[in-house]
Amino acid sequence: MITRRLFCGCLAGALPFAATAVHAQSLECAVFTPDRQESTSPDDAIARLKAGNERFSASKSINCDLMAQVKQTATSQSPHAVIVGCIDSRVPPELVFDQRIGDVFCARVAGAIVNTDIVGSLEYSTKVAGAKAIVVLGHNFCGAIKSAVDNVKLGNITALLKNFQPALATLTKADGHRDSHNDPLVQKVAEASARLTAASLTKRSPIIKQLVEARQLKIAAAMHDITTGKVTWLA
Ligand SMILES: [Zn+2]
Repeated sequence: MITRRLFCGCLAGALPFAATAVHAQSLECAVFTPDRQESTSPDDAIARLKAGNERFSASKSINCDLMAQVKQTATSQSPHAVIVGCIDSRVPPELVFDQRIGDVFCARVAGAIVNTDIVGSLEYSTKVAGAKAIVVLGHNFCGAIKSAVDNVKLGNITALLKNFQPALATLTKADGHRDSHNDPLVQKVAEASARLTAASLTKRSPIIKQLVEARQLKIAAAMHDITTGKVTWLA
Protein backbone atom coordinates (compact mmCIF):
# COMPACT_ATOMS: atom_id res chain seq x y z
CA MET A 1 0.00 0.00 0.00
CA ILE A 2 2.82 2.33 0.95
CA THR A 3 4.61 1.48 -2.24
CA ARG A 4 1.41 2.03 -4.22
CA ARG A 5 0.80 5.40 -2.53
CA LEU A 6 4.38 6.53 -3.08
CA PHE A 7 4.23 5.47 -6.71
CA CYS A 8 0.95 7.28 -7.28
CA GLY A 9 2.26 10.37 -5.47
CA CYS A 10 5.45 10.50 -7.54
CA LEU A 11 3.55 9.98 -10.76
CA ALA A 12 0.99 12.64 -9.93
CA GLY A 13 3.79 15.07 -9.04
CA ALA A 14 5.81 14.26 -12.14
CA LEU A 15 3.03 14.63 -14.67
CA PRO A 16 2.72 18.44 -14.56
CA PHE A 17 6.49 18.78 -14.96
CA ALA A 18 6.49 16.34 -17.86
CA ALA A 19 3.59 18.20 -19.49
CA THR A 20 5.41 21.53 -19.01
CA ALA A 21 8.60 20.12 -20.54
CA VAL A 22 6.71 18.78 -23.56
CA HIS A 23 4.96 22.14 -23.97
CA ALA A 24 8.29 24.03 -23.79
CA GLN A 25 9.80 21.63 -26.31
CA SER A 26 6.91 22.03 -28.77
CA LEU A 27 7.24 25.83 -28.51
CA GLU A 28 10.99 25.64 -29.07
CA CYS A 29 10.55 23.35 -32.07
CA ALA A 30 8.07 25.69 -33.78
CA VAL A 31 9.81 27.29 -36.77
CA PHE A 32 10.02 31.04 -37.10
CA THR A 33 7.27 32.47 -39.30
CA PRO A 34 7.11 36.09 -40.53
CA ASP A 35 4.53 36.84 -37.78
CA ARG A 36 6.66 35.24 -35.09
CA GLN A 37 9.74 37.12 -36.31
CA GLU A 38 7.79 40.39 -36.37
CA SER A 39 6.62 39.90 -32.79
CA THR A 40 10.17 39.17 -31.60
CA SER A 41 11.94 42.27 -30.29
CA PRO A 42 15.73 42.73 -30.49
CA ASP A 43 15.89 42.05 -26.73
CA ASP A 44 13.74 38.92 -27.19
CA ALA A 45 16.17 37.66 -29.83
CA ILE A 46 19.17 38.12 -27.54
CA ALA A 47 17.22 36.50 -24.68
CA ARG A 48 16.46 33.47 -26.89
CA LEU A 49 20.17 33.04 -27.61
CA LYS A 50 21.07 33.40 -23.93
CA ALA A 51 18.46 30.82 -22.95
CA GLY A 52 19.65 28.52 -25.74
CA ASN A 53 23.25 28.65 -24.52
CA GLU A 54 22.13 27.97 -20.96
CA ARG A 55 20.36 24.82 -22.23
CA PHE A 56 23.39 23.80 -24.33
CA SER A 57 25.94 24.30 -21.55
CA ALA A 58 23.70 22.38 -19.12
CA SER A 59 23.44 19.44 -21.61
CA LYS A 60 19.73 20.24 -21.96
CA SER A 61 19.57 21.04 -25.67
CA ILE A 62 16.14 20.36 -27.11
CA ASN A 63 15.73 17.62 -29.70
CA CYS A 64 13.35 18.63 -32.48
CA ASP A 65 12.29 16.88 -35.66
CA LEU A 66 14.72 18.70 -37.96
CA MET A 67 13.24 17.19 -41.13
CA ALA A 68 9.82 18.51 -40.08
CA GLN A 69 11.49 21.93 -39.77
CA VAL A 70 13.11 21.50 -43.19
CA LYS A 71 9.66 20.96 -44.69
CA GLN A 72 8.12 23.86 -42.74
CA THR A 73 10.83 26.31 -43.90
CA ALA A 74 11.14 25.05 -47.47
CA THR A 75 9.43 28.04 -49.06
CA SER A 76 10.52 30.87 -46.76
CA GLN A 77 12.69 31.79 -43.79
CA SER A 78 12.27 34.35 -41.00
CA PRO A 79 15.27 33.93 -38.64
CA HIS A 80 15.30 36.01 -35.46
CA ALA A 81 19.08 36.66 -35.30
CA VAL A 82 22.35 36.55 -37.20
CA ILE A 83 25.64 35.39 -35.74
CA VAL A 84 29.12 36.28 -36.93
CA GLY A 85 31.33 33.48 -35.69
CA CYS A 86 34.71 31.82 -36.15
CA ILE A 87 35.24 28.81 -38.42
CA ASP A 88 36.55 26.89 -35.37
CA SER A 89 35.00 23.40 -35.35
CA ARG A 90 34.28 23.72 -31.63
CA VAL A 91 32.04 26.78 -31.96
CA PRO A 92 29.11 25.92 -34.26
CA PRO A 93 26.62 28.75 -33.51
CA GLU A 94 23.46 26.69 -33.98
CA LEU A 95 24.66 24.09 -31.46
CA VAL A 96 26.17 26.57 -28.99
CA PHE A 97 22.93 28.58 -28.89
CA ASP A 98 20.65 25.51 -29.23
CA GLN A 99 19.01 26.85 -32.37
CA ARG A 100 17.63 24.85 -35.28
CA ILE A 101 16.53 25.03 -38.93
CA GLY A 102 15.42 28.54 -39.91
CA ASP A 103 16.25 30.13 -36.52
CA VAL A 104 19.48 32.04 -37.20
CA PHE A 105 21.67 33.23 -40.04
CA CYS A 106 25.39 32.50 -39.56
CA ALA A 107 28.48 34.05 -41.15
CA ARG A 108 31.65 32.22 -40.22
CA VAL A 109 35.21 33.29 -40.93
CA ALA A 110 38.48 32.76 -39.06
CA GLY A 111 38.50 35.03 -36.01
CA ALA A 112 34.89 36.26 -36.54
CA ILE A 113 35.97 39.40 -38.39
CA VAL A 114 33.85 41.27 -40.92
CA ASN A 115 34.64 42.51 -44.41
CA THR A 116 32.49 44.05 -47.14
CA ASP A 117 30.95 40.71 -48.09
CA ILE A 118 30.02 39.86 -44.50
CA VAL A 119 28.64 43.34 -43.78
CA GLY A 120 26.57 42.93 -46.95
CA SER A 121 25.38 39.57 -45.63
CA LEU A 122 24.41 41.24 -42.34
CA GLU A 123 22.51 43.95 -44.21
CA TYR A 124 20.65 41.22 -46.08
CA SER A 125 19.94 39.25 -42.87
CA THR A 126 18.52 42.30 -41.09
CA LYS A 127 17.16 44.88 -43.52
CA VAL A 128 15.90 42.42 -46.14
CA ALA A 129 15.19 39.24 -44.14
CA GLY A 130 14.18 40.83 -40.84
CA ALA A 131 16.60 39.42 -38.22
CA LYS A 132 16.40 41.42 -34.95
CA ALA A 133 19.87 40.92 -33.50
CA ILE A 134 23.49 40.61 -34.64
CA VAL A 135 25.89 38.75 -32.36
CA VAL A 136 29.65 38.82 -32.95
CA LEU A 137 30.81 35.61 -31.27
CA GLY A 138 34.51 35.31 -30.44
CA HIS A 139 36.01 32.47 -28.44
CA ASN A 140 38.98 31.66 -26.26
CA PHE A 141 42.14 29.94 -27.55
CA CYS A 142 41.28 31.11 -31.09
CA GLY A 143 43.87 30.01 -33.66
CA ALA A 144 43.32 33.09 -35.80
CA ILE A 145 43.89 35.39 -32.83
CA LYS A 146 47.00 33.42 -31.81
CA SER A 147 48.35 33.70 -35.37
CA ALA A 148 47.73 37.45 -35.34
CA VAL A 149 49.50 37.76 -31.99
CA ASP A 150 52.48 35.88 -33.45
CA ASN A 151 52.34 37.99 -36.65
CA VAL A 152 52.20 34.87 -38.85
CA LYS A 153 52.95 35.35 -42.55
CA LEU A 154 51.48 32.64 -44.80
CA GLY A 155 49.60 32.88 -48.06
CA ASN A 156 46.26 34.67 -47.84
CA ILE A 157 46.31 34.24 -44.06
CA THR A 158 48.66 37.27 -43.97
CA ALA A 159 45.91 39.51 -45.36
CA LEU A 160 43.26 37.93 -43.10
CA LEU A 161 45.33 38.65 -40.01
CA LYS A 162 45.50 42.37 -40.82
CA ASN A 163 41.88 42.51 -39.63
CA PHE A 164 43.12 42.06 -36.06
CA GLN A 165 45.36 45.16 -36.05
CA PRO A 166 42.80 47.33 -34.18
CA ALA A 167 42.45 44.66 -31.47
CA LEU A 168 46.24 44.20 -31.24
CA ALA A 169 46.55 47.98 -30.83
CA THR A 170 44.72 47.72 -27.49
CA LEU A 171 47.68 45.83 -25.97
CA THR A 172 49.98 47.63 -23.55
CA LYS A 173 53.28 46.77 -21.86
CA ALA A 174 51.26 45.60 -18.86
CA ASP A 175 49.90 42.72 -20.96
CA GLY A 176 53.38 41.17 -21.05
CA HIS A 177 55.24 39.48 -23.86
CA ARG A 178 53.34 39.39 -27.17
CA ASP A 179 53.29 35.66 -27.71
CA SER A 180 50.46 33.21 -28.39
CA HIS A 181 51.49 31.23 -25.29
CA ASN A 182 50.49 34.24 -23.18
CA ASP A 183 46.88 33.11 -22.59
CA PRO A 184 45.57 36.30 -20.88
CA LEU A 185 47.01 38.40 -23.72
CA VAL A 186 45.37 36.19 -26.38
CA GLN A 187 42.06 36.40 -24.51
CA LYS A 188 42.34 40.19 -24.27
CA VAL A 189 42.88 40.48 -28.03
CA ALA A 190 39.99 38.09 -28.75
CA GLU A 191 37.58 40.08 -26.57
CA ALA A 192 38.79 43.38 -28.02
CA SER A 193 38.30 42.03 -31.52
CA ALA A 194 34.71 40.90 -30.81
CA ARG A 195 33.88 44.29 -29.22
CA LEU A 196 35.55 46.33 -31.97
CA THR A 197 33.98 44.24 -34.72
CA ALA A 198 30.51 44.68 -33.20
CA ALA A 199 31.11 48.43 -32.76
CA SER A 200 32.35 48.78 -36.34
CA LEU A 201 29.09 47.62 -37.92
CA THR A 202 27.16 50.88 -37.54
CA LYS A 203 30.19 52.76 -38.90
CA ARG A 204 30.56 50.48 -41.89
CA SER A 205 26.87 50.28 -42.73
CA PRO A 206 24.37 53.16 -42.81
CA ILE A 207 21.66 50.51 -43.22
CA ILE A 208 22.61 48.76 -39.97
CA LYS A 209 23.03 52.13 -38.22
CA GLN A 210 19.52 53.17 -39.22
CA LEU A 211 18.01 49.89 -37.96
CA VAL A 212 19.82 50.25 -34.61
CA GLU A 213 18.72 53.88 -34.23
CA ALA A 214 15.14 52.84 -35.01
CA ARG A 215 15.44 50.15 -32.27
CA GLN A 216 14.63 47.47 -34.80
CA LEU A 217 18.03 45.83 -34.34
CA LYS A 218 20.43 45.17 -31.47
CA ILE A 219 24.13 44.37 -31.85
CA ALA A 220 25.99 42.39 -29.19
CA ALA A 221 29.47 40.96 -28.72
CA ALA A 222 29.99 37.69 -26.88
CA MET A 223 32.69 35.15 -26.11
CA HIS A 224 32.31 31.39 -26.20
CA ASP A 225 34.40 29.33 -23.79
CA ILE A 226 35.45 26.17 -25.62
CA THR A 227 36.24 24.45 -22.30
CA THR A 228 32.77 24.92 -20.76
CA GLY A 229 30.42 25.59 -23.68
CA LYS A 230 29.29 28.78 -21.97
CA VAL A 231 28.84 32.13 -23.72
CA THR A 232 29.73 35.31 -21.85
CA TRP A 233 28.10 38.51 -23.09
CA LEU A 234 30.42 41.50 -23.37
CA ALA A 235 29.14 44.93 -22.34
ZN1 LIG B 1 38.70 30.95 -33.79
